[in-house]
Amino acid sequence: MNRTYDVVIAGGGVIGASCAYHLSRRQNLRIALIDAKRPGNATRASAGGLWAIGESVGLGCGVIFFRMMSAQRRQAHGAAVAVEASTPHILPPAFFEFALQSNALYPQLHRELIERHGMDFKFERTGLKYVIYDAEDRLYAEHIVARIPHLADQLRWLDRAALREAEPAVSHEAQGALEFLCDHQVSPFRLADAYSEAARQNGVDLYFNTNVTSVLHEGGRVGGVRTAEQGSFHCATLINAAGAWAAELSEQATGIRLPVKPVKGQILLTERMPKLLEGCLTTSDCYMAQKDNGEILIGSTTEDKGFDVSTTFPEVAGLVQGAIRCVPQLKEINLKRCWAGLRPGSPDELPILGPMAGVEGYLNACGHFRTGILTSAITGVILERLVHQESLPLDITPFLADRFEVGLLKGLG
Ligand SMILES: Cc1cc2nc3c(=O)[nH]c(=O)nc-3n(C[C@H](O)[C@H](O)[C@H](O)COP(=O)(O)OP(=O)(O)OC[C@H]3O[C@@H](n4cnc5c(N)ncnc54)[C@H](O)[C@@H]3O)c2cc1C
Repeated sequence: MNRTYDVVIAGGGVIGASCAYHLSRRQNLRIALIDAKRPGNATRASAGGLWAIGESVGLGCGVIFFRMMSAQRRQAHGAAVAVEASTPHILPPAFFEFALQSNALYPQLHRELIERHGMDFKFERTGLKYVIYDAEDRLYAEHIVARIPHLADQLRWLDRAALREAEPAVSHEAQGALEFLCDHQVSPFRLADAYSEAARQNGVDLYFNTNVTSVLHEGGRVGGVRTAEQGSFHCATLINAAGAWAAELSEQATGIRLPVKPVKGQILLTERMPKLLEGCLTTSDCYMAQKDNGEILIGSTTEDKGFDVSTTFPEVAGLVQGAIRCVPQLKEINLKRCWAGLRPGSPDELPILGPMAGVEGYLNACGHFRTGILTSAITGVILERLVHQESLPLDITPFLADRFEVGLLKGLG
C-alpha cells in the first residue's frame, strides 16, 4: 500500500514523539510517526531527570564513568590525582543554552498536555542534589560552581545540617551537597505517551510495531520510506529520530553514516514506598529519583557494549552499593526490576539536529545521548520550525551533522 504524507518521522521514542506533537499543533500537515519499539529503546529505560545543569556539568550517568577513569588513573599514577585529571566533563555553553531552554518549556507543556489532551507526564519540581562525601567530591562541586558563574542563582550549597534537614534519609557519611535548583523530573514513558497521544488527537497517524527497512529516493531527494509491515510511505520530509539506530537510517537516506553509537545504561527500580527522598540525588556512585508513585529509580551505568541489553551482576551490584551508601534505609527495600537501555551517543555528546549539506527532504533529530528526555521539548520546537522554514529559538550550528569531518562520517562502522 502507498501512503503520502508531508512529514514522516522514523522512530517513536521521546524525540520522534515530541517532533510529531510539535508539528501537529498547527494541524496543517499530514504526518506519520513510525516506530518499531526495538529492545533497548532509551525512552522507556530512562530515569526521567530534567537535570539541565546536572547533566551539563557531567553528573548523572557521567559520574560513574568519570570515577572509573579516575580510579584507573590513580592505579596508573600511584598517588593522588590532580584535580584537572579528575574533573567532570563540562559540556560547551551551546549545550547549556539548549538544555536550559528546553527545561524552561516543561511547566507550560505539562499544563498544555493535561488541559488539551488529558495526558499527565508527572512533572515534579524536585531539584537535584549532588551529595558530597569527601574532599574529591567537594573539589568537583567547587569546580562546577567556578565554571558557571552566570547560573549562580540556580545553585545552593547545603552544609551537613542543611542536607540532613532537607533529606533526612541521606547517610551521616555525607558532608553536604550542592543543589541545582532548576533540575526537576518527569515520568519518561508517560512523557513519550503524552506527546504521541496528543499528536494522534491532532491528526497524526501512528504506525507502531512498524520497521523502516529502506529509504526511498525520488528526483534526487529523499522521498519516503519502505516498511516491512505497512508498505511504502511517500513524504516531502523524512525526520530521522531513530535513537541508537540513527546511523543505519542516515546511511540509507544520505549515503553518510552518522557517528551515533549505542551507549548502554543499566538502571534499577525499587518497590513502592512512602516518601523517602524529597528531591533527586546524585553521588559519585549513582543517582536516585523517587517517582510520584513511591518507586525509586537508581541509575545508571555507561557502557560501550554495542546493542547488548543484558543486565549484569557487577554493574547492578555497583549501583546497589552506591545507593545504600547514600540512603542506608534502602537495605530494607526490595528491588522490583532492573533493565538496560541504549542511549544514542555521539562523539562530542551533543545532539545531531537539522539538515545535511546537499541532501533534500531529510532532517536529523538524533544523538541525544543521556539527555533526550530533558531536551525533547526544544528538539520538537526546533524541528517544527525547520520544517516550516522559520527562525529558530537558538543557533543550531554546533548541532549540525556537518561539524563532523567527512572522514569520520564515512569511516564509522
Ligand atoms: C538508563 C538510562 C537513563 C537515562 N536517564 C535519562 C534522564 O534521566 N534524563 C534524560 O533526559 N535522559 C535520560 N536518558 C537518555 C534518554 O533516555 C535518551 O536520550 C532518549 O530516550 C533518546 O530518545 P530517542 O527517541 O532518540 O531514542 P529511543 O527512545 O531509543 O527511540 C528510538 C526509537 O526508534 C525506533 N527505531 C529505530 N530504528 C527504526 C526503524 N528503522 N524503523 C522503525 N523504528 C525504528 C526504535 O525502536 C526506538 O523505539 C537515559 C537513558 C538511559 C539508557
